Amino acid sequence: MSMISVKGLRKTFGKNEVLKGVDIEIQPGEVVAIVGPSGCGKSTFLRCLNLLEKPTGGSIIYHGTDLVTAPPKESTKLLLGMGMVFQQFNLFPHKTVLDNIMLAPVKVQGVNKKTAEERAMALLQTVGLADKRDAYPNQLSGGQQQRIAIARSLALQPEVMLFDEPTSALDPEMVGEVLDVMKKLAAEGMTMLVVTHEMGFAREAADRVIFIDGGVIVEDSEPQEFFAHPKNKRLQDFLSKML
Ligand code: ADP
Ligand code: MG
Repeated sequence: MSMISVKGLRKTFGKNEVLKGVDIEIQPGEVVAIVGPSGCGKSTFLRCLNLLEKPTGGSIIYHGTDLVTAPPKESTKLLLGMGMVFQQFNLFPHKTVLDNIMLAPVKVQGVNKKTAEERAMALLQTVGLADKRDAYPNQLSGGQQQRIAIARSLALQPEVMLFDEPTSALDPEMVGEVLDVMKKLAAEGMTMLVVTHEMGFAREAADRVIFIDGGVIVEDSEPQEFFAHPKNKRLQDFLSKML
């Protein structure tokens, strides 16, 4: 059974119809890379999935509930299962690394501090930054801050992670360390949707790659097929410019 089933998803801003009927099924453990030109609606799609934007139409079935029409109380609870990481890390500047990671589990989930700290330390090990527990965000590089942002999101123990261009704001030499953390997560079986311009990551780490054009998904295939034999003409043009 699909973990997330999206049907006919639409989103309009004023007169601008950005998503015109997106259909996609996400299976548990799948890593789906989402690519496409700037402005095609990649972020809007991810933000609709977790209701950061209110969809204009269609359905998002998650744990048997349609998030689009569910009462806020119900959708809010379900959405704790989805973590999100943005291009900008948005760490709390006046809190230490450890406090950044512990905050939501303690405040939102009511986890006791000792458990939250143990969990946070385990996550810091995972992202390779255990020695930075007492540092403040501005004492860290961009790559380190983004690894902390990933750990913070994982602290709520989501079953699916949404990444919106997590390496786009980073200096080139820091992209690899963040992608490595994401590859590790993928290898551990996390379900992931990743908007990215890193074609190497899409090729190596994704199970499927999708291309959005004109408000719909026009290509959805395994990486090998996607890159070697793109069927859609716009995707062919896009790839010829990227590679
Ligand atoms: P991408 O992430 O693929 O670059 P976006 O999803 O950010 O594209 O944007 C798709 C389109 O939706 C763009 O035309 C953008 O201007 C528009 N858009 C995105 N967010 C908003 C918003 N909050 N209000 C109005 N228009 C928006
Ligand atoms: Mg975007």
